[in-house]
Amino acid sequence: GKGAALVTAWASRLADQTRQIAETLAEFRLTQEQLLEVKRRMLTEIQNGLSKKTQSTATVKMLPTYVRSTPDGTENGDFLALDLGGTNFRVLLVKIRSGKRRTVEMHNKIYAIPIEVMQGTGEELFDHIVACISDFLDYMGMKNARLPLGFTFSFPCRQTSLDAGILVTWTKGFKATDCEGEDVVNLLREGIKRREEFDLDVVAVVNDTVGTMMTCAYEEPTCEVGLIAGTGSNACYMEEMRNIETVDGDEGRMCVNMEWGAFGDSGCLDDMRTQYDRAVDDLSLNPGKQRYEKMCSGMYLGEIVRNILIDLTKRGFLFRGQISETLKTRGIFETKFLSQIESDRLALLQVRSILQHLGLDSTCDDSIIVKEVCGAVSRRAAQLCGAGMAAVVDKIRENRGLDHLDITVGVDGTLYKLHPHFSPIMHQTVKELAPKCNVNFLLSEDGSGKGAALITAVGCRLREQEQK
Ligand code: BGC
Ligand code: MG
Repeated sequence: GKGAALVTAWASRLADQTRQIAETLAEFRLTQEQLLEVKRRMLTEIQNGLSKKTQSTATVKMLPTYVRSTPDGTENGDFLALDLGGTNFRVLLVKIRSGKRRTVEMHNKIYAIPIEVMQGTGEELFDHIVACISDFLDYMGMKNARLPLGFTFSFPCRQTSLDAGILVTWTKGFKATDCEGEDVVNLLREGIKRREEFDLDVVAVVNDTVGTMMTCAYEEPTCEVGLIAGTGSNACYMEEMRNIETVDGDEGRMCVNMEWGAFGDSGCLDDMRTQYDRAVDDLSLNPGKQRYEKMCSGMYLGEIVRNILIDLTKRGFLFRGQISETLKTRGIFETKFLSQIESDRLALLQVRSILQHLGLDSTCDDSIIVKEVCGAVSRRAAQLCGAGMAAVVDKIRENRGLDHLDITVGVDGTLYKLHPHFSPIMHQTVKELAPKCNVNFLLSEDGSGKGAALITAVGCRLREQEQK
């Protein structure tokens, strides 16, 4: 009768809705063949960045870091470190002791950088940084020490030595004026001078990937790659000097900061980007830039999720078709929320309560869909990141003419550390796409701070040798 007809209509609408949601999420599924293609394209871009002819227009910039070796255990002394560009801004005191019982002792304090400062003038930004250092020195009672300082600055810098780095472009949430094209070590030194309160000896500017690699290499000498899967995404590794055509000399190796976040900026990933990726990119601080990073890193995954949810809501599949103010708010899905939503231990009711907490009034059905959306987006991110890493380790293997390579990758970043599925999927992808490499991933505890101090220690030692 009539009731049966209604049920049939309802069931077919539901089936249709399920199919449409599945079709939307299918755009985020990459085949093994596509992932291999990503690996191949990454390798092409790596070559472009290393070669003199193509370097100036390359999207993956392969920036030399002037770090020529990993630590050897003789590093010694007290160092200050700054860590700018990740989830938190921190100032650290790092005490490294060499000898039979090597130890590293660290003290640090986290400081907020208000968004007006991140996106104000360069002078305001560096004044703020120096004010934080001043507070930290007071806190430690070390105002008069003139300590050597390592500056972990997690943005692309063109280096000509260990202690000079010209900011190529801001990434992530930063956009302070008058910094791009400037040497950030100079900007820091000028900030210190303006304050006229204490003096510091800035010895090194360090990318966070490099700090992470160095920290892991201190414990594990096979570590010759650094990876950050956090707010941003990037990697570094020890490349043969003979392959780095932008630096003189053919002997030995140098660490190269790949700046792989910009992979895809030539358009070479456009066939894999979805309308949601384009929407996130269009609304970002740097449209058209860092396209791979925008598919892989914590700052953007939540935004992709939010854009999909808005679309599904508009189509009437979610939240009773009502787009709330919350859903319109940029940045609501931070990495920590995505990680909670995808936790396998959570019952659906708990997912629902997380959404409720964010101000999204959801039914149980809604929660299931939201969780699926998060899963599709984070899986693709982990696979893309794995494909990039597969290109790197295979390149190192080929460099050394080996049939098989054992190597360690030092890793840091909130996405890698907090998300329940990102790291296993990324590891699996590397295994599948680089079968001739046995890759050991080592979590770096506090890579940015400790690594900067280790590099600063090496820098001080080299300087003393030169002076002799
Ligand atoms: C920056 C890199 C950095 C990465 C991870 C990217 O946005 O360009 O320099 O290593 O984020 O923090
Ligand atoms: Mg960091």
